[in-house]
Amino acid sequence: MEREYHVCTGCALLCDDIKLREEENKTIIDSACRKGVAWIKNCQHPLRCTVDAKDATPQAAIDKTAEILKSAKNPLIFGMGNSSLKAQEKAIELAKKTNACIDDTSSFCQGPFVEAILNDKIKSCTLGEVKDKADVLIFWGCDPSNSHPRHLSKYSYFPRGKMRQRGWEEDRTAIVIDVRKSDTAIICEDNFYQIPPKSDAEFARALTDALSGKVPKVTFGMKPKEILELANLLKKAEFGVIFAGLGLVYSIPEISPLEKLLEVLNKKTDFHLMPMVGQYNMCGFNHTLFDQTGYINRVSFEGKNTAHGPQYSVVEVLKEKRVDAALIIGSDPLSSLPGSIAANLKEIPTIVIDPCKTFTSQIANVTIPSAVTGVECKGKAIRMDGVKVELTQMRKSDKMADADIIEKIMEAI
Ligand code: SF4
Repeated sequence: MEREYHVCTGCALLCDDIKLREEENKTIIDSACRKGVAWIKNCQHPLRCTVDAKDATPQAAIDKTAEILKSAKNPLIFGMGNSSLKAQEKAIELAKKTNACIDDTSSFCQGPFVEAILNDKIKSCTLGEVKDKADVLIFWGCDPSNSHPRHLSKYSYFPRGKMRQRGWEEDRTAIVIDVRKSDTAIICEDNFYQIPPKSDAEFARALTDALSGKVPKVTFGMKPKEILELANLLKKAEFGVIFAGLGLVYSIPEISPLEKLLEVLNKKTDFHLMPMVGQYNMCGFNHTLFDQTGYINRVSFEGKNTAHGPQYSVVEVLKEKRVDAALIIGSDPLSSLPGSIAANLKEIPTIVIDPCKTFTSQIANVTIPSAVTGVECKGKAIRMDGVKVELTQMRKSDKMADADIIEKIMEAI
């Protein structure tokens, strides 16, 4: 039986209440936010199937990919944040088969938090628990009103939950810590703490001091009293959550000040952290690789052994020119990495599997269009809170699922 509701793969919230209906020959997408609607509607610029910039059949592109990977000594497989769990498993299998380095975007974004959660160093929770129980929310270095537009309305601030029947008006307090007054900060105006860029670690330490009964040392114009008041508010939380955004991750060289803050908070109350993961299945890749190797990213299968370390990150292997071919799946390193590093992709044979044209696809030797998982094909994914979600197909497509493409590449090798 066809499911009535679909799941949006526009971001890692994976909203599961999406409904499609026909009205006057148009498909209306109910419940999705503007970002989700744009994602579900279609690529503005779909990727063409090409070999050496000439149109090719999918089989010819797959054969060329197999040839490139077979003759490479040390290829890179990168991306997969927008791929199904099955495709991620296949990509790891392919990496093992080809002695490749495998990495994803968590390597330069939320990886340290995801890793700490999977290693039980940081306490996290589910979005369902946030909805039902959370009374104190900290949006730290993130702006979900734009990055995850239904976060506040579906899970965190506005909804009524089992233990939060009076919702945001009386039962929830939302705090924003950020370098600028974002749209989310405007909603939480009474509890907006504006801090200078790169001072997040200092702010976390000041808050930890305040919670430990010390006078907090802050040097960026904030009065100790303000930090003490915030610490008092956090101490009274019954179920608190820090939503950690990219602004926080990029500001702190290591996550230890946050780990310490959570340790002190959890001596007094019940506090959790959830990384604000962007790509819908980045967590899926991290969980899958972690289950197989004990690491969430930056893994090398060179020499049939599993090695891990910063030297195997996409940034380092490209910077040091240590890979001789690259397979990029559902990602666009040319737009997300520093230009000088990503430009090294131009010097090695590069293959892109993606539903849409990207900056990277424009320099690739082989491009293979794939179906958008959750829209044009089914699959499974892991939501930003670690919950596994079944994805449905919303419309028919003649494009192959990324898992099938990778499977065929392996057969051709
Ligand atoms: S919040 Fe994310 S998952 Fe939900 S509808 Fe918007 S884009 Fe889709």
